[in-house]
Amino acid sequence: MFSERLKRLSPYVPGEQPRDRRYLKLNTNENPYPPSPTIREVLRNFDPETLRLYPDPLFTDLREMIGKRFEIDPAQVFVGNGSDEVLSLAFFSFFDTNRGPLLFPEHTYSFYPVYCDFYGIGCIKIPLARDFSLNPDGFLNVETSCGIVFANPNAPTGMFLEVGEIRRLLESYLPDSVVIVDEAYIDFGAESALPLVKEFPNLLIIRTFSKGMSLAGLRLGYAMGSRELIDALYRAKDSFNSYPVDTLSLLIGVAAMQDEAYYKEVTERIIATRERLSRDLQRSGWRVLPSRANFVFASREGIPGKEVYRRLKEKGILVRYFDIEGIRDFVRITIGT
Ligand code: PMP
Repeated sequence: MFSERLKRLSPYVPGEQPRDRRYLKLNTNENPYPPSPTIREVLRNFDPETLRLYPDPLFTDLREMIGKRFEIDPAQVFVGNGSDEVLSLAFFSFFDTNRGPLLFPEHTYSFYPVYCDFYGIGCIKIPLARDFSLNPDGFLNVETSCGIVFANPNAPTGMFLEVGEIRRLLESYLPDSVVIVDEAYIDFGAESALPLVKEFPNLLIIRTFSKGMSLAGLRLGYAMGSRELIDALYRAKDSFNSYPVDTLSLLIGVAAMQDEAYYKEVTERIIATRERLSRDLQRSGWRVLPSRANFVFASREGIPGKEVYRRLKEKGILVRYFDIEGIRDFVRITIGT
């Protein structure tokens, strides 16, 4: 019954969402605080009759709001059903194996190789430095490639690449190959590469409402880049699903974007907790990578990540470990309250 295409896939495995008991859930980088209180108002005033009609396929209001917030032309904004979908459409639109493999760091968001599989894109994983930092030279030293993607801050390390280094990468890289910077975790105190969009038409920034905006259950993500890149994403979207984002999500997205003050406060609390947790773990003998995200990546000599995960789970605390060479010793702990 199955296509050859399907048989070749090896799907992404999301962090577990067990239902057997109540856990302190620190395994999928969700935000521990509720989303903006204004969303309750939006829901209360929502007329279900609105749902009779299809949603706006151009996401006009939300794109205008995003444009206003980040001082960018709404024509340079694309919206999708979670940033995973935006990433998927971007992989489809920009990366062609006949121009070479796609480059991404050895340890990064583990969905990237899955999309490569899905679209038949070859890839090369570029090793991180010993301290898990990312050096753009690793990308630049590869002779041929069809594009680059990395998360900044990176996952699961939480480590941040300075915007100056991203500029250096773009200045030296092929101007007609796309560089995707996945800024899923940008809200937690890191500097965005967004200003570079003005100078580099091959730069695409992808973001999500799931982490900083506390709306992982809503499924809303967006991309910002040159008009050419954004038009290409619409072309791909309109060949796949005209209405990936529903009317309610669009309304809630606008309300969330408007409430900058609330999210600033929540983000500051998460950053303060991250710094305290990092310090306390280090004081009790853990190695903690410097994080600019809403999680920390930590290891303790002599205890494999899997064992830490198992013992914490027994105590009702969920964290994530990766059974992958090079990061097996670590666990990724989402910042809670
Ligand atoms: N990028 C990175 C680096 C992530 O960690 C995640 C969360 N799993 C995503 C993108 C996808 O987020 P969402 O689809 O919820 O927007």
